[in-house]
Amino acid sequence: MLVDVHYTEPECIFCKIVEKKLESKIILENDEIVAFNDIKPLAPVHVLIIPKKHIISVNEIVSPDDVQLLGNMIVAARDIAEKLAIAKDGYKLLFRVGKHGGQEVDHLHLHLIGGVALHEDIRPLEVEWK
Ligand code: AMP
Ligand code: ZN
Repeated sequence: MLVDVHYTEPECIFCKIVEKKLESKIILENDEIVAFNDIKPLAPVHVLIIPKKHIISVNEIVSPDDVQLLGNMIVAARDIAEKLAIAKDGYKLLFRVGKHGGQEVDHLHLHLIGGVALHEDIRPLEVEWK
């Protein structure tokens, strides 16, 4: 019998996707990572790469194992971009962190966005910030 070694949060929607309790279009899955289509895509390609383990955000990356996991998420995104034929033209990889970063789901996720030229807008909400 397979034992699930991943820590999950019962109320977390991305944990539910990992556990297949919530439907998603899975693009890649391995022992530690799941990648699936964003439900509200911002571009022709919008995939979320998440760890199976419930980690809230980049702020919670502490152990060498988690650093390795973070690297593996980035490499998975790179491989998906290649598979979906957007690697040559390019894409964006985005981690939102916390309130100011606009993070809405508190389960670490890497956005892979591409398939079209993207607008550059990372400006602060408040124009005057100095
Ligand atoms: P963030 O603002 O970085 O926390 O991004 C959360 C992302 O999760 C958003 O782009 C949402 O569209 C996406 N999202 C929320 N619920 C689901 C879901 N059930 N399946 C797929 N993507 C989702
Ligand atoms: Zn979770």
